[in-house]
Amino acid sequence: MKAIIVIGDGMADRPISELGGKTPLQVARKPSIDKLPRLGISGIMDPISPGIPAGSDTSHLAILGYDPYKYYQGRGAFEALGAGLEVGLGDISFRGNFATVDNDLVVTDRRAGRIGNSDADELAKSLDGIRLDDFPDVQVVFKHTVEHRCAIILKGPRLSRMVSDSDPEGERQKIHVVKNLDQSSEALRTSSIINELTKRFHQILENHPVNTRRRVAGLPPANAILFRGAGTVPKATPITETYNIKALVIAAGALYKGVCRAVGMDTIEVKGATGTYETDTVAKARAAVESLSKYDYILVHVKGTDNAAHDGNFKQKIAMIEKIDALIDYLLKNVDLSETFIAITADHTTSCDWKEHMGDPVPISITGPEIRVDSVERFSEVDCAQGGLGRIRGINITPILMDLIGKSKKFGE
Ligand code: ZN
Ligand code: ZN
Repeated sequence: MKAIIVIGDGMADRPISELGGKTPLQVARKPSIDKLPRLGISGIMDPISPGIPAGSDTSHLAILGYDPYKYYQGRGAFEALGAGLEVGLGDISFRGNFATVDNDLVVTDRRAGRIGNSDADELAKSLDGIRLDDFPDVQVVFKHTVEHRCAIILKGPRLSRMVSDSDPEGERQKIHVVKNLDQSSEALRTSSIINELTKRFHQILENHPVNTRRRVAGLPPANAILFRGAGTVPKATPITETYNIKALVIAAGALYKGVCRAVGMDTIEVKGATGTYETDTVAKARAAVESLSKYDYILVHVKGTDNAAHDGNFKQKIAMIEKIDALIDYLLKNVDLSETFIAITADHTTSCDWKEHMGDPVPISITGPEIRVDSVERFSEVDCAQGGLGRIRGINITPILMDLIGKSKKFGE
């Protein structure tokens, strides 16, 4: 028995007046997605707990069975793991941006003119592996990921993730001086390292040939790195050990791959999976079907629904839901439902009106062999609330799926 869970990021929404008081899920044309509640059991799910707007990272931890209040230790390590870097238990990871600053370190462009991949790759090579004179025991790992984004890891003794961001999160502001967030000597030391590193990165980048070329071409130089989201990897028993399974994530975004890697799941690259509106959702479905022979549990993630909601674009969100429908259509046509469970849900509600994550529950449907089929006919926030799963939490999903595929252990005699 196998299980595939499809997560439409931020796919759930609130009623939208322009849609006649309906949600994008209620309006979208999605005949294949709607087969899942019709052939299965449905419910609504609070990713963390009722009324708590979940981040994608904390929600994915919960959906994979890990209490985020216990295991969430900042976003940085997930980004680094998702970028394919190896992160050790004592390492401190950050997300970073290539940015443009003036001579006083005032940010003039937080994304360095949305710097392209080849320039950023070349600049990254000059930053990776540098050592600071005052902190010779600390190794710096630097990797460019996509566009203006990068991942940075500090490896060495006596480091702490309890440090603030240098990223001012806005323009015309000076790069923030990083502060220690607790009174430990480790936090103080780590904040000094990041402040030193900010200066050193700026020196190296300012006169780099790539930036000389960019200035000549009239492009903003990528002459600073902004740090945020200091994090460490959670010390958690891998999901693969807890359930004695092989598990895989199919996602484009580094964060999602990183959360899944942190709990012991494998990742694969799928051609055409981009994490954008153009992503090839059917290619993801095909990769999932092809991986079923090797894996017991596969998480397929689609990001575009959340992006559309953050843009306040409900038409785009509906279009993305319809692209997820094509993914489900491929699964239903190519998976043996007598030995495979298919679940669909969202990692949180993202409101097109508010352009933000909200604390409302999300719909969930599961179909597969010997499922207790209820009377829900359509996959939506409202319809699924009538279903047989009732109201569950994110942390319940993986145990439910593992029990369905016969991988749960009995508690007691
Ligand atoms: Zn999300
Ligand atoms: Zn979001």
